[in-house]
Amino acid sequence: MVIYTQKDALIQALQSWKSQSQHSREIGFVPTMGALHQGHLSLIQKSIEENPLTVVSIFVNPTQFNDPADLEKYPRNHEKDLAVLNQLEGKPFVFLPEVSDIYTNGAVSEDFNFGPIETVMEGKFRNGHFNGVGTVLTKLFDIVTPTRAYFGEKDFQQLAIVKKLTSLKNLPVQIVGCPIVREKNGLAMSSRNSILSQKDREEAAFIYQILKEIQEKFHTHTLGQLKEIVAEQFLQNPNLELEYFEIADEDTLQTATEKNKTIRYRAFIAARIKGVRLIDNIPLN
Ligand code: AMP
Repeated sequence: MVIYTQKDALIQALQSWKSQSQHSREIGFVPTMGALHQGHLSLIQKSIEENPLTVVSIFVNPTQFNDPADLEKYPRNHEKDLAVLNQLEGKPFVFLPEVSDIYTNGAVSEDFNFGPIETVMEGKFRNGHFNGVGTVLTKLFDIVTPTRAYFGEKDFQQLAIVKKLTSLKNLPVQIVGCPIVREKNGLAMSSRNSILSQKDREEAAFIYQILKEIQEKFHTHTLGQLKEIVAEQFLQNPNLELEYFEIADEDTLQTATEKNKTIRYRAFIAARIKGVRLIDNIPLN
């Protein structure tokens, strides 16, 4: 494993790697914000299987945080992350830049127009979030020049935004979506889980339990009844504060107003436990 802390060094190393002719020159890329867990590792393993070289970036991107306190308390554990990556057989290139190396003119976002997919859910509740995501990925794709880039369905709306970004910017990168990896109790793995106590993590598994219940009842209950079930369940769990619950069309991400057999639906939740914001989603049909 080689660690690059400066973009110029990484660009040079990638150029030199590409100039060797014994492999296909295809680069897999897994952008992360670190505090790595099995969810991240599933993406990295897939990339290692599908590409002769994998680049993993660890960069807590300031422009995608709308809340400075959230940015401040976001978990960072480079030592442990590097030890985990060092165990991997595929020997990825690790990119660990400073903010000033990525944002040479200050940490500001480009203004994108992703259309209706950006104004709902995460986009609605985290002002400017997707402009930040689009900005950092544009920069990282430019540095890494990946053939394929891997993203988790845990951030389902982000995955849609990234696909839109590549079409808006005409980027020659294939976006690969990967399934959600969960704890034994069903809680979606997340870096933020590491700042919760074991007890809070057990309680947070309620988010998955309610999603499962909605999935089971999707065919027998109306959309209104499903919303009510969620609202009632959250009232009975005062430690969890619901930010939003949505049943949306998987392709457009717009709120479902009726059930149409030709449309695939997904349920989405954002909730806070002890001030830590967690998101999850599940397919319904
Ligand atoms: P993050 O470090 O949270 O920005 O996540 C980096 C990538 O890992 C994103 O594409 C996430 O969607 C993905 N990811 C995070 N958690 C999971 C999970 N539990 N299962 C699958 N992918 C995940």
